[in-house]
Amino acid sequence: MIDDRPVLDDHLHLDPDNNRGIDAVRDFARVGGTHLLVVNKPSWHLGVEAETGEDFRAVFERTIEIVDDASSELAGRAWPVLGVHPGLISRLVDDRGVSPEDARDLMQAGLDVAAEYVESGEALALKSGRPHYEVDDDVWAASNAVMRHAFEHGAALECAVQLHAEASEDMTEVADWAEDAGLPSRRVVKHYAGGRLEGPTPSVMSNKDRLETAAERGEPFLMETDYIDDPDRPGAVLGPKTVPRRVRWLLENGHDEAVRIAHVETPRRVYGIDTEATLERDG
Ligand SMILES: [Zn+2]
Repeated sequence: MIDDRPVLDDHLHLDPDNNRGIDAVRDFARVGGTHLLVVNKPSWHLGVEAETGEDFRAVFERTIEIVDDASSELAGRAWPVLGVHPGLISRLVDDRGVSPEDARDLMQAGLDVAAEYVESGEALALKSGRPHYEVDDDVWAASNAVMRHAFEHGAALECAVQLHAEASEDMTEVADWAEDAGLPSRRVVKHYAGGRLEGPTPSVMSNKDRLETAAERGEPFLMETDYIDDPDRPGAVLGPKTVPRRVRWLLENGHDEAVRIAHVETPRRVYGIDTEATLERDG
């Protein structure tokens, strides 16, 4: 551990089909990582071509299983974040000839199933969003409707919603949609964020330049690697040791307060989790 501190990676994926996933957790723990939010991989990466909301259940169950395994490797613990990857809409519309409206309904039904796991306490938060690339207007409208459906669940369940969305430093409109649904904007987390963001809480990719911006800003933020994510962004993700290493680097550069914000205060504010109480400090 790093000075008995909790160190949280707010967004990564573990491959449930082989032990590479758990090896990544061991690498993370060996260099001082203590807590993980594990997001289910896109359903099609697991060979699931969903036709109903129920078809997502296998994806969620496999993620929950590997999160249990991950927790046993950590001085802290891991939690699952479950949802439907927004890129699915393009696979449905472009590859399978599904209408945007039917794609919307299917993705919302998948979120309904994810919400069941949050309600039962098996998952911590939901994952939604909208394509980070240009799409037709009707696909964009359907994607926004899916995201707003996730906000309704987040409001009802009082849980956070992680978003995969376009690169932006101003997502106040989206934060307003969450507030309209009854979900406080602080509980909306933009994954793969830069160091500066208006609206949702940024989950900052742990590159030094992005972290420096976030640390100097002094606002709530989280740190992530997006380890093993989408093949449409090859090479864009960071390795599982990155967050602990960057925590050391921030501390060496006098950013103690930012480390506390990212690993204690913001996790509590966004997810209601206590990364200190869930840490075994037995040396
Ligand atoms: Zn991801």
